[in-house]
Amino acid sequence: MPRTILKVAVDVPLRRLFDYLPILDAGLPPVGVRVRVPFGRRNQVGLVVGHASHSELSQPQLRHAEESLDATPLLPPGVLELLRRAADYYHGAPGEVFVGTLPGPLRAGRPAQLRTPKAWQLTLTAPSVDSLRRAPRQAALLQFLEAGPVAESVLDQALPGWRPAARILAGKEWISRVAARGVEAACHVAQPHPDLNPAQAEAVAAIGAADGYAAYLLDGVTGSGKTEVYLAAIEQVLAQGRQALVLVPEISLTPQTEARFRARFGAAVVVLHSGLADGERLAAWLAAASGRATVLIGTRSAVFAPLARPGLIVVDEEHDSSYKQQDGFRYHARDMAVLRARIEGVPVVLGSATPSLESLAHGRSGHYRTLHLRERAGTARLPRLELLDVRHQRMAGLVSPALIAAVREELARGQQVMLFLNRRGYAPVLLCHACGWVPKCDRCDAHYTLHRGRQLLLCHHCARERPLPTNCGGCGVRELIPVGAGTERIEADLTALFPDHRVLRVDRDSTRRRGALDEHLSAVRDGHADILVGTQMLAKGHHFPAVTLVGILDADQGLFAADFRATERLAQVIHQVAGRCGRGEQPGRVLIQTHQPQHPVLHALLRGGYSGFASALLIEREAAGWPPYSHLALLRAESIKPQDAQRFLGATLSLAQTLGHSGVDLLGPVPAPMPKRAGRYRAQLLLQAPRRAPLHALLRAWLPELEQLPLARRVRWSLDVDPADIY
Ligand code: ADP
Ligand code: ZN
Ligand code: ZN
Repeated sequence: MPRTILKVAVDVPLRRLFDYLPILDAGLPPVGVRVRVPFGRRNQVGLVVGHASHSELSQPQLRHAEESLDATPLLPPGVLELLRRAADYYHGAPGEVFVGTLPGPLRAGRPAQLRTPKAWQLTLTAPSVDSLRRAPRQAALLQFLEAGPVAESVLDQALPGWRPAARILAGKEWISRVAARGVEAACHVAQPHPDLNPAQAEAVAAIGAADGYAAYLLDGVTGSGKTEVYLAAIEQVLAQGRQALVLVPEISLTPQTEARFRARFGAAVVVLHSGLADGERLAAWLAAASGRATVLIGTRSAVFAPLARPGLIVVDEEHDSSYKQQDGFRYHARDMAVLRARIEGVPVVLGSATPSLESLAHGRSGHYRTLHLRERAGTARLPRLELLDVRHQRMAGLVSPALIAAVREELARGQQVMLFLNRRGYAPVLLCHACGWVPKCDRCDAHYTLHRGRQLLLCHHCARERPLPTNCGGCGVRELIPVGAGTERIEADLTALFPDHRVLRVDRDSTRRRGALDEHLSAVRDGHADILVGTQMLAKGHHFPAVTLVGILDADQGLFAADFRATERLAQVIHQVAGRCGRGEQPGRVLIQTHQPQHPVLHALLRGGYSGFASALLIEREAAGWPPYSHLALLRAESIKPQDAQRFLGATLSLAQTLGHSGVDLLGPVPAPMPKRAGRYRAQLLLQAPRRAPLHALLRAWLPELEQLPLARRVRWSLDVDPADIY
């Protein structure tokens, strides 16, 4: 039988492929090509993922695909295989997997090319860069073009605001615009870089020695020079004419990382993240696909970007929870990176100072080869961690006298100080002192957080805002008092305590404006701030050499959280925040405030460092049967009517019992930890299995039937394989 049926992943959230007949009067579109297909009364973009010789639908029901959107496959075989395996593993809707991961314009069916790709190059009359010292933007552009023609898409990314400078230079006929086709990105080693120390050199050599697939866990303390290892390993790969893919958690939070890659590899680097405009994203994606860009740095979804000649995959800060997609196609980019490396037959490097327990376990079992960087690079030393017992202390808000004294001492020495609290806003609760009334969000089971600067109450769970009340909503008395503290209040407290010093707050509120985060970070680097107050935004990879004291205001928060990953996260945050300090000449000190100075978790953390602590946690996880020693999937449901979500999950449980589920424990259904959120009632059912195979076998049999349940139409439900949070 000839294969004349198209298996198409259509961009709709349904867990199945759709069958179509080939386009009339045209050949069979190959796998990997986008097609426009009739769907209901409209049409949709889909991707051909296979051909079949027959369909379960009868001939009259089958419709023809309308048009082919690509002449050749959009995705290389390696990425198609990755997506196929991902759809299978996460039990995702094929449309969300195959089409949802494409850049917006491609998803919308637009052509896979830039309208008129153009590049700029120097003319023969161009002067030297030095002669343009008075016009820095023009000089920067000129310097950028010295290595050869550069595509506009690359300039957009590397030199924001380059166009006015280009107009002036073009007016003088010093540069000219040419077609970008065939413009190869130059790989020029622009900046001098430090000689690798022996541990770094050993790591780079090990990675370079990989013959095909190999997974490395680069376990290196904060500031140990992991980034230098990535850069050197990438250099090796570029020298072979191949490309590198570098995943980073949130590029906007760590502009320095991007800057370091650009300084080293210049125009060879393109970035891919959600902060870009559609056109820019498409340009970067196409540059990677064509091989023009040789280093692709991107967030989570970049793991699915095509590469013409893959040579190496790097996952920086591999423990970071932003690698997990939290809606739609709920993949984990770190796991996808390892799978991709296996499929493409290239090495993958997972780097972190605080590796996830999953990766540590793979290191122990030999699936990953562990490379250690045990000391800080250069002359910097690791900071000392100390617990501050704050019981009975007369606190200034959340700050103890001992911490205030330590802050004063550092400031007197001209150093910078960083205070960390993972709670934004002014106060988590507003309370009536007369009657006890507390304003609550009526769409969630949650209190409003007081944001004093913005003069409003904000629900951190559904983003609902309301004006700040002056009087109590219960008794009408004017005695509303803020209870507890967030970063905004700490900022106010510190400003009052240290009126002669500059306090800078870095959290999602203070960085809402575009460009604000960059300004804040440069203010810190340039010494325009003395005291930094922030959330975990401050913990991410920054390099502030003048910070010598870090205060962790409330370590206890993490000790009482319900999720089984809470202690792992607490340890990671403490070590990452601590890692921001003492990175320069001066040694650093980390003070951890707690009401639980005897708590075994905190002691283990201080005594054994992260790795000792992680070993103890792995033993606990094994005893309790949690991941990485078991496998989880979480079925979540939410409904408008209070009981529907719970009833739906009850029905799915019966279904699973009918199907049989040996080897899989089903726990629940139970109400979600926040039973009502954004106006919906929420419940969940947890699946836990010592081995993966029975879990996936059950899911495969269960999901198609579960979709048919009458209640499935009345609730919103989702399946999360390897959930990051189960509460
Ligand atoms: P990590 O990524 O592990 O946090 P980085 O690569 O950012 O570490 O390095 C931390 C600092 O040490 C940077 O300022 C970097 O330039 C410097 N550094 C890295 N390797 C070396 C080296 N071999 N010699 C001197 N300084 C180094
Ligand atoms: Zn009241
Ligand atoms: Zn709410």
